[in-house]
Amino acid sequence: MTSISQKLALVRQKIEAACQKAGRAPSTVQLIAVSKTHAAQAIEEAIRAGQSVFGENRVQEAEGKFIDIKQRYSEIELHLIGPLQTNKVEQAVALFDVIQTVDRLKLAQSIAKACAKLHKTPRLYIEVNSGNEPQKAGVAPDQLELFLAQCHALGLKIDGLMCIPPIDVDPTPHFARMQRLAQKLNLPHLSMGMSADFEAAIAQGATEVRVGTAIFGHRLFH
Ligand SMILES: *Cc1c(COP(=O)(O)O)cnc(C)c1O
Repeated sequence: MTSISQKLALVRQKIEAACQKAGRAPSTVQLIAVSKTHAAQAIEEAIRAGQSVFGENRVQEAEGKFIDIKQRYSEIELHLIGPLQTNKVEQAVALFDVIQTVDRLKLAQSIAKACAKLHKTPRLYIEVNSGNEPQKAGVAPDQLELFLAQCHALGLKIDGLMCIPPIDVDPTPHFARMQRLAQKLNLPHLSMGMSADFEAAIAQGATEVRVGTAIFGHRLFH
């Protein structure tokens, strides 16, 4: 069996190769290790292998693992990459360094309130429903500019965009569209690409790739 540190090294190699191919410096792409469903032990193995940025998609699960880990390892940066309910916003603002899934006005209002109350401002990205899929979270691409303005009006600083393209289609056109949107709106962070397609995302300008399975193996639930 391949260890987590070996799998991490392999993913890092592939990121470097994709950067080289795209003519980008490897330092412009950050690897987010997606540890959802995996135990604290696995996360600590990744930390010992030099990984410091992690992604989780559920607030409660993340609290169970990362309140303790963050106390013991001060360099850890934690990203929320799953849907956020308004009744979990205060917990999310307290725990996460980055919330990547801002996707509706009510949530933005609630985040603004929680930031003021807790005197804490996580970095915020807007989730874009790049394929306009009816069942999927995210702001429709043609609503993005309006939503960004609404966030600004609430006093929220938005630093980037994230997307999960439709499955079973070529993701490259989606990634390319996201890059154009981020450039147009002057947003420096672009979170896209998972285990199966992070190299394609890097070719289209991803600044953060979210990789779970290729590092931690298959998930046991969710
Ligand atoms: C689970 C998840 C990932 C990681 O997916 P893998 O295919 O395991 O790499 C990335 N982004 C989001 C939003 C996820 O929920």
